[in-house]
Amino acid sequence: MNFCESCNIACENGRCPKCGRKKLRAVTEDDFCLVAEVDRLFGDNLKDNLEEENIECALMPYGTGVRSKFALPLESYLLYVRYKNFEYVRQILKDKIS
Ligand SMILES: [Zn+2]
Repeated sequence: MNFCESCNIACENGRCPKCGRKKLRAVTEDDFCLVAEVDRLFGDNLKDNLEEENIECALMPYGTGVRSKFALPLESYLLYVRYKNFEYVRQILKDKIS
């Protein structure tokens, strides 16, 4: 698995799906990787649940430019977890969303 340091995305290909960068390095267990965009409430709940399991995660506020211009709370988060927990967390999201 490869890793794009500008986007924090783990990908199988030699090219980042987001920025198109080709200079990727091999991902390590401790790299924070983008899992998904989640809404705020869901993200806050998930963070609590993951912390109970001692899984580190990072939530980055993410939303439309218009909302941030008016200083309204942003609607969603980008969720990042360490690569070693990546598959596990992705599975949780799959179960909850479907
Ligand atoms: Zn990238």
